[in-house]
Amino acid sequence: QSNDWEVALRVIDKIEKAGYEAVIVGGAVRDHLLARKIHDVDVATNALPMEIKNIFRNTVDVGIQHGTVIVLDEGCPIEVTTYRTDGTYTDFRRPEEVTFVRDLPKDLERRDFTINAMAYTKDGEIIDLFGGKEDLNNGIIRAVGDANSRFREDALRMLRAVRFAAQLGFSIEESTMNAIQKDSDLIEFIAKERIHMELSKMWVAEYVYLGIKALVESNLALYLPGNFAEHLEAWKPFQAKEPEVGWAYLCLLNRKEMEDIIEFYRYSNKEKSFAKKVIHAYDRFLNRWDEYDYFSNDLTILETAYDFAVWQGKDVPFSKDHIAKVKKLLPIQTMDDFALNGHLLIQWSGKRGGPWVKEALDKALYAVLTGQVKNDEKQLKEWFHNEFIHER
Ligand code: ATP
Ligand code: MG
Repeated sequence: QSNDWEVALRVIDKIEKAGYEAVIVGGAVRDHLLARKIHDVDVATNALPMEIKNIFRNTVDVGIQHGTVIVLDEGCPIEVTTYRTDGTYTDFRRPEEVTFVRDLPKDLERRDFTINAMAYTKDGEIIDLFGGKEDLNNGIIRAVGDANSRFREDALRMLRAVRFAAQLGFSIEESTMNAIQKDSDLIEFIAKERIHMELSKMWVAEYVYLGIKALVESNLALYLPGNFAEHLEAWKPFQAKEPEVGWAYLCLLNRKEMEDIIEFYRYSNKEKSFAKKVIHAYDRFLNRWDEYDYFSNDLTILETAYDFAVWQGKDVPFSKDHIAKVKKLLPIQTMDDFALNGHLLIQWSGKRGGPWVKEALDKALYAVLTGQVKNDEKQLKEWFHNEFIHER
């Protein structure tokens, strides 16, 4: 049980002592029952945001209009949200406005899936109005209420179903799946940034392949670039600790459409450059890396490219831990270690700067990395005179 959980219970206690009602809701209850790691513990209450602010000394307004106040009093931040129902839905997106309500069932009813719609009271009682516990035990993702209307209210829920399948290894209940299949095209109304967030969670999930399969079966894949149906098998061995690995693998599998994919899914600059570097290293790997590849790429880039080669069924001529060993044994680790620079070259040659400087530096670096010359100013000067002055 996480510290947050204990803190949330203390927050609930204070709210109740002030005469209101409060419970833990949503993902934390689900993860608690599954004995999974709990990220953030959300508290729901019948007190209004201003009433919460009167109970606690230290609060932050994050989304007062959505009913959320962050309470800092007990050590770690706990989000406290007033029971609410969502307002009217337009364009198949979540509404901007919400209505506060005084009873919990209304709040639980607006939640997406039965496993996410349970509440936990201070006394350890589970409030489960939609059979969430049973679905949890059977590994089932089921919409709360009529699946078709729930997905039309907010089309992102379709992708959330797939993401939870990937995280928990659950299957999507039949009528919920049918509803997604029917309305999968509505995903086009959802902001790319939100799609990005869901897929980022999916890449680091335990059962990514199940998620990709659900993406295909649900027809969502028809509206999401990446040719998931065609590449289904390529996702089978995939496992990642960081989302950027998933974004890079998606590019690797769809190289011709890489630029479109980067644009569609709104890759961050970091994700984009990671993808490009890994794919470059992957291509070089297939003709065997040289000292310069080991030098110029971060270890994570090299190791990811190696994983990609394995997942693509390529023959890899060495084990993964070999990579770090080779890299460590290089005569220099970074450019800062390099004993040569352009100024020295210009000084030694008595010539003006020009493109030749970069060319000579590259050549010298390669000579150092391959052990042809020591990384030492005197020896580099000698090497330079032999290579560049005497020969002309
Ligand atoms: P995790 O934090 O592990 O991604 P979570 O279940 O906590 O999973 P959040 O996005 O943090 O998911 O949302 C918290 C809770 O709010 C959910 O458990 C669910 O009850 C509700 N919720 C979130 N998004 C939606 C949505 N689009 N439609 C309906 N309910 C939602
Ligand atoms: Mg959460």
